[in-house]
Amino acid sequence: MNFANFVDLAARNAAVKPAVGDETELLTHAELSERTAAAANALASLGVEAGDRVAVCLSNGVPFLTAHLGAMKLGAVSVPVNTRLNVPQVRYVLDTSDVTVLVTDAAFADVAAGVETAVTVDGSVGHDYRELLDDAAETFAVEPRRSDELAEVVYTSGTTGRPKGVRHTHGNLLANALGIVTYFDLTRTDVGLTACQCFHVTGLNVTTTPLLVAEAENRLLPSWDPAAALAAIENHGVTCTFLTPGMLIDLVDHDAVDRYDVSALETVCVGGTPMPTGRVDDAETALGCPVLEGYGMTETTPLAAFNRPGDDRKRGSVGPPAREVVELRVEDLETGRAVDRGERGELAWRGDTVTPGYERLQHDSAAFVERHGERWLRSGDVGYLDDEGYLHVVDRREDMFTTGCGNVFPREIEDILYDLEGVAAAAVIDARDDIRGAVVTAIVRPVDDLAPGDSDLAAERVREVCEERLEPHEVPRRVEFVDELPRTATGKIDRVALREAFGTTKS
Ligand code: ATP
Ligand code: MG
Repeated sequence: MNFANFVDLAARNAAVKPAVGDETELLTHAELSERTAAAANALASLGVEAGDRVAVCLSNGVPFLTAHLGAMKLGAVSVPVNTRLNVPQVRYVLDTSDVTVLVTDAAFADVAAGVETAVTVDGSVGHDYRELLDDAAETFAVEPRRSDELAEVVYTSGTTGRPKGVRHTHGNLLANALGIVTYFDLTRTDVGLTACQCFHVTGLNVTTTPLLVAEAENRLLPSWDPAAALAAIENHGVTCTFLTPGMLIDLVDHDAVDRYDVSALETVCVGGTPMPTGRVDDAETALGCPVLEGYGMTETTPLAAFNRPGDDRKRGSVGPPAREVVELRVEDLETGRAVDRGERGELAWRGDTVTPGYERLQHDSAAFVERHGERWLRSGDVGYLDDEGYLHVVDRREDMFTTGCGNVFPREIEDILYDLEGVAAAAVIDARDDIRGAVVTAIVRPVDDLAPGDSDLAAERVREVCEERLEPHEVPRRVEFVDELPRTATGKIDRVALREAFGTTKS
């Protein structure tokens, strides 16, 4: 089994249907199969062999996918690279993953010039990707791969440190894609919108690969733009998409959201970072379809837990664990023993979508633990299963802190802040103070047309609302207003940058 064969299967069954594209280039399933075969031949002509690493540093678009799937067809390992990294960071990824060929564009000309074999889609450095493909044969005999052989290496978001390279096998990809197709009942009549970038699991394995397996159509957004997303939904009759909470809020808060016809939408999935619970209703009303929250990690390819379409979705929960592909163990934070339902602990995963390991061994020893002879991946996330078996993610273990009077889970405070009129985004961190230790600090971005300090959003009011709904030690002692909250390339609030900016409290 080679996961790339699923592209060819789709080509046989849905040859003339659009498969993937954007406003500049759209391929049918048959054309995608031919172009990925050409990419496999082109990479082979450059000396790439099965098992070699091919880095693909391109934004969403047809060239990204043909290079990614072409490498996989050849039995090589595709390494998507975040296009928002700077040059030294891209070099770090190339070194860590021992890459032999880099496929990129002029934006990374400096890096390309330094690697042995570079291919650029605009021909600016090294080989010209389009010429290579035009000259290559459009058939390729795909060799089967074992399900434990590597297909791709995808890097994490780097929220807690440097991004980590996560290995995905052909088996991981198949389990993930089939799981998502089944969960969301994707069929060949679906039209998906890939709004997240394909260099991250959200764009690559939540929307793109499952849509291919389902023989559906996939519209790619080259970069995030809420108006372009709304236009794509209207113009192409998009039925399903996956968004991060930040993107979803951008869409719902967009001035012109009512002017677009989004009635084709059947399912909007959201995840990757906590979704403010109070915003789900607004989103469902604005988009006219269920909004389903899910949870996953790069390390789980990412299918781990998801609310499914139908009436049994639960607000505030990321849904039941995806039992078809993973097992969940909730572990006591101190002892590592499995806790009972309802009790909080660290989420640990094992199963078909769980990575065999990272590119660097030290990450393996930090993340994997042995329990009763089985190998479990510790997620670093704290959560609990409720009476009905739904998973609730409380926060990252690393973001949780103690004030001396008790534990603080920033997400629980953020949820309350998001309910306040005029709050566009909010984050809570532990700013350090020599005298008081950890000081609960709320950083709030007001909606655009509201000046910081407007009555409802004054620091006093924020504290009052928190006092009504939280334990005394959880109430923010310090409230700061900002024009923008720093975010990582995958749309997560960059707490490292926030701690740097607000880490020291004026007493
Ligand atoms: P790094 O591992 O490099 O620090 P990261 O953990 O943000 O970065 P990803 O693999 O992109 O990298 O993200 C997975 C993490 O995202 C999860 O471990 C969890 O903390 C968070 N996450 C994903 N979905 C949700 C969700 N629905 N609610 C809360 N947190 C979520
Ligand atoms: Mg992580």
